[in-house]
This record gives sequence, structure tokens and C-alpha cells, in this order.
Amino acid sequence: MKVRGIIFDFGFTLFHFKNVSMKKYFDCFRRGLSKSIKILKQEKVLEDKGQMMEDFITIFNKKRATYFKQAMKTKNEFPTTLLFKTTLDQLKEKGYEIQEEKIKNNFLEKLAELYHSCEEEEWKPDEKTKFTLETLSKISNLKIGLISNHPNHKTIKNLLRDNEMNDYFDVIVTSAKFGKRKPNSDIFFHTLKRMGLTKNDAEYCIMVGDEAADIVGANRVGMQIILKERDYEFPYEKEINLPNLTRIKSIEEVLQYID
Ligand SMILES: [Mg+2]
Repeated sequence: MKVRGIIFDFGFTLFHFKNVSMKKYFDCFRRGLSKSIKILKQEKVLEDKGQMMEDFITIFNKKRATYFKQAMKTKNEFPTTLLFKTTLDQLKEKGYEIQEEKIKNNFLEKLAELYHSCEEEEWKPDEKTKFTLETLSKISNLKIGLISNHPNHKTIKNLLRDNEMNDYFDVIVTSAKFGKRKPNSDIFFHTLKRMGLTKNDAEYCIMVGDEAADIVGANRVGMQIILKERDYEFPYEKEINLPNLTRIKSIEEVLQYID
């Protein structure tokens, strides 16, 4: 059976987080937030006097936790730009003076990029990722896509660009930009469509991912499914029990499944 398309997940499928631990992961965001705050101060959006800074951080952390819970429940994505916007809006509602004209889209994008910048330094491609993508890109009539559940589109784009991998993909989709997260079916259909494929092509396409959201979602839309097994176990990891699941240990093993 000729494969028409292959879609990869990003984190722990093509790239890994160096020496991953929950502590390290959260530490990245704490450091990232400090960088965003520095810009907010420089631009005089936030002032380091009275309660303002403390209130900003409290609202931000609370809002982040709420969005995270909602995202898990509804499979809607709440982008990091929105997180900064609503935090500043709430700060204003609390009576602080916020200069609206400074909160433009490109400013929110800069804040989000800085917030994720420490995380960005830690994601590295697996040893065989480039070789695998390079090999696949030479196969005629095979479309290559990427779907990442990430709240900031720019972060994924930067990582692919900095590792010279952008050109291998026909389509790069993030939940931040699309608005829905895997395993929601719409994000898979949207990606297939942008790859020039239809719902009927799904059975000739492969999804490669490392967790239930990738595998269960792709299976539901009728795609073939490959799980890249991770060494690191996530907290609250869901077990996948699907009879048609193929398991691989290293990314280049996908090449065996493309004829
Ligand atoms: Mg992943």
C-alpha cells in the first residue's frame, strides 16, 4: 500500500528535551517569565512599585493553570499571547493603569517568544531526525506534515528553522495557530487538507507520535499509527491499547513503513 502522507508530532517524537524532568521544565518557564517581565518593565507597561508586579505574577500563574486545565478538558488551545493579554486585562480591571496602545499583537508575540525562549534552548532534534526527514523528502508523492500541541507557533517555527528542518515539511500546524489540540479530529483533517489530501486519503497516511493524544486522535480519523516509545514517563500518562499500533524505538524506523 502506497503511503501518501506522513505526519509527525514534535516533542519527544522528532525532538527531545535535554535531561528532562518536571522540575527543569517548570524552571524554564520561571526563567522565561522573568525575561518577559523585563521587557514589560522596559516598555513601562509594568512598574516595579507597590503591589503591581506581585499581582501581575499571581494573575499570570492563576490564569496559566486555568487555561491548562481548560485545554486538557476541552481540547481548545489557549495561546501564550492570549495568556499575556488576559493577564494584563485583569490587572487593568484591578485598577492598575495599563497603556492599551502598547499592548499590540507584535508586543504580545514578543512576550510569548521570550516566555518560551528558555524552553527553546532545551529542545534538540534526535540523532536520526534530520536523516529521516531528508530521506522521506526525497520520496516522490509523499507529503510530510507536522502537528504540535504547543501554545506558541513561533517557538516551533524557530526550532525547525534553527535546525534547518523547515523545508522538509509541506505543512506545519500548531494548536496555537489552529485553536484545537490533538486528539481533536479537526486538527488532523485540517492538516491533511493543507497537505493536499482528503479524508479518504487518511488510511494511506501515517501519524507518528509519542503519546495518546497523537495516536488516539489519528486512529479516530482513520490514519495508520506509529508510537515512538519514550524513555521518560510523563505524569498521568495514558496507556494506549490499540491492536493496529506499531511501536518504534528510534525515529528512523519509520522508513521501514514507507514503500
Ligand atoms: Mg510529543
